[in-house]
Amino acid sequence: MLKLKNIKKSYEVASFKQVVLNNISINFRDKEFVSILGPSGSGKTTLLNIIGGLDRYDSGNLIINGKSTKHFKNRELDAYRNNTIGFIFQSYNLINHMSILSNVELCMTLSGVSKKERKQRAISALSKVGLKDHIHKKPNQLSGGQMQRVAIARALVNNPDIILADEPTGALDSKTSTQIMELIKEIAKDKLVIMVTHNEELAKKYSSRIITLKDGEMLDDTNPYNQEDKKEEYKLNKTSMNFFTALNLSFNNILTKKGRTLLTAFASSIGIMGIALILSLSNGFKIQIDKFEKDTLSQAPIVVSKQTMDVSKSVVNKDSENLKKYTSKKKVYKLETIESLVHENKITYEYMSYIENIDENLIGGLSYIRETNFNILTKVDGEAKIIETKNILTQMPSLLDGSISNIITDNFDVIQGNITNNKEDLFLLVDEKNRVSEGVLKSLGFTDEDEIDFSDIVGKEFKLILNNDFYKKSNQNYVQNYDYNNLYDNKNALTLKISAVIRGKKDSDFAKLSGTGIIYNKSLIDYVIENNTNSSIVKDQIDSNYNVLTLEKFTDKSSVSKDQILAYLGYKSPAYLIQIYPKDFDSKDKVLSYLDKYNKNKEEKDKLLYLDQAELITQMSGSIMDAITIVLIAFSAISLVVSTIMIGIIIYISVLERTKEIGILRAIGARKKDITRVFNAETFIIGLTSGLIGILCANILIVPINKIIYKLSDLNNVAKLNVVHAIILVIISIILTTIGGLLPAKMASKKDPVEALKTE
Ligand code: ADP
Ligand code: MG
Repeated sequence: MLKLKNIKKSYEVASFKQVVLNNISINFRDKEFVSILGPSGSGKTTLLNIIGGLDRYDSGNLIINGKSTKHFKNRELDAYRNNTIGFIFQSYNLINHMSILSNVELCMTLSGVSKKERKQRAISALSKVGLKDHIHKKPNQLSGGQMQRVAIARALVNNPDIILADEPTGALDSKTSTQIMELIKEIAKDKLVIMVTHNEELAKKYSSRIITLKDGEMLDDTNPYNQEDKKEEYKLNKTSMNFFTALNLSFNNILTKKGRTLLTAFASSIGIMGIALILSLSNGFKIQIDKFEKDTLSQAPIVVSKQTMDVSKSVVNKDSENLKKYTSKKKVYKLETIESLVHENKITYEYMSYIENIDENLIGGLSYIRETNFNILTKVDGEAKIIETKNILTQMPSLLDGSISNIITDNFDVIQGNITNNKEDLFLLVDEKNRVSEGVLKSLGFTDEDEIDFSDIVGKEFKLILNNDFYKKSNQNYVQNYDYNNLYDNKNALTLKISAVIRGKKDSDFAKLSGTGIIYNKSLIDYVIENNTNSSIVKDQIDSNYNVLTLEKFTDKSSVSKDQILAYLGYKSPAYLIQIYPKDFDSKDKVLSYLDKYNKNKEEKDKLLYLDQAELITQMSGSIMDAITIVLIAFSAISLVVSTIMIGIIIYISVLERTKEIGILRAIGARKKDITRVFNAETFIIGLTSGLIGILCANILIVPINKIIYKLSDLNNVAKLNVVHAIILVIISIILTTIGGLLPAKMASKKDPVEALKTE
């Protein structure tokens, strides 16, 4: 069945070629016990390795069951070893981190025997060699003789045709040697056994044929066999290790170095941990921003002002795409700009009534800012004085019918007095520390005081002077009446009174965005405009083409236009700025589309553009968040690269440590691919572990981080790791460690099995 024909093998070391086997031709019987004798270095092991397909011959032929192995591919050679050959080594070559049973089962795993059959056959093989009671022990818990029995059981279990034994008793005492030899002799009854030994006595006693080698030549054959083989069909059952076996193998190996593996996994988990934390933080903040936006920014007003930015035209300079940057051409080009970035909104009464026709369920309030001047007097130390009202007086947002908007009641506390919608009532808005700006204090008549009692403020009275009393016609022009004390006591003057102090609620972000100042009701401005529109100064101004106060003619170059003067004097001019407060996020969208509807089919210059502040702020904060997240992730990614390299080194060390195991696996028929798989499995386990450790640690760290954030910002449970992110990070960890281990795993598979078996 097995025939060697003119086998030649030589090794070349440092350009010196040593012939190890020279023209060896042997014909073996199906069943016999052949001993190969010879001094050390005569080529016995080399011959055995060639027969076993662990080593390749240079020339000649090895014929198995009539089939030449000369052109066998690696895969076929692997299968040949697995199906046809059983190896027994002098140093047993068992895998130390696996139980006796698993060691014996392994070569059946490679040939795809079912789990149940595998166990059954392994137990029966171990029983045959007398080790039934030791199957769950590890190799190093056995004596030398017992380990060799395990090796014999392993060699037999796949029922190979040929058993190859390389000095099987070389490391055993004589008594144990005898037992082992008896066992091998028993096997030789129905198999071809080829045993290498340098013990002539043992060879003579047990074997049926002795072949003597010397310096690579065959000296003697005591029982040659010359019959020609009948041609048989030789079929190979291909081997393959599935990933699960590889995983199991590596898992067992990893268990023998738990500490190191855990440390490695922990070290490489730091990058994952970092990214997990960053993602959970940025996620959390995004959710907070969203909430902030929904709660408060949706209430930030939509602003339509006389002059607005046309946000659709965000670039001022034209790009000039066809021009190259840093050109060497000695030419100058025109820089074109987009001019109409500023859009003039023509706010008309028609537009204002369009806005006032909006569905009242959508808005929580509406306010106008006008250019109208208020003539307001206050009494300081018994003397009447005029008040600078610009930047100090603001209209309170009111509902469409003029009643108090819930924007005020939702966001502000009345800390003194009452708020009403009477035209006579004013309200003082203070900040969270009860402060108001200096200008406001001054107009209230307080110039030096550090603190003022509410009682001195609430009830404080002012006088509103109407145009007919405030402006007197002298000859052609109007002059202001400076007799403030007299005006103050005038019966036509309207008495205004601070009726309440209001302050933003603690949790109201909307209130934090509002400044401080004095707030008046819509009813007051309506009253002022109505009265002033009918005043004689306004009527005269409407009819004149010069400024009735200065007598200056209106030309294109006038510092103020007629419209501006009229607006200042309180003529029924439309609003300068409109603020619309949507009720909530959904309403805002509806309000915006209502405003868009007005612009439909209108020429560009007649369109009224609005500014959606909430949208602007959200966009900005969103993109800042994204940028910060990306920068931080990039930093963490560096630690991922470091850990990938580290994993590569660790796996390389593991390859060095497991070299022997690689040899054993190859000897029992594992393919190169399978070896790669074993190490890929190891990196898979490390990657998975480090990914899981990273996620776990991140989740643990999130607890104190959230506590700190809560202390700093009152935001509860901000950081939160998204499940999808966690899964993706574990997968990234597995992929990166696998990449790190790829090279060492490839190196492992390239190892020469003969060399690998020699390592200790
Ligand atoms: P034996 O088993 O009879 O002691 P071997 O077959 O192990 O002898 O070795 C035969 C000869 O081949 C020895 O001289 C040894 O040094 C040489 N040899 C074996 N393997 C190699 C190798 N991989 N590279 C170079 N020389 C080798
Ligand atoms: Mg040898």
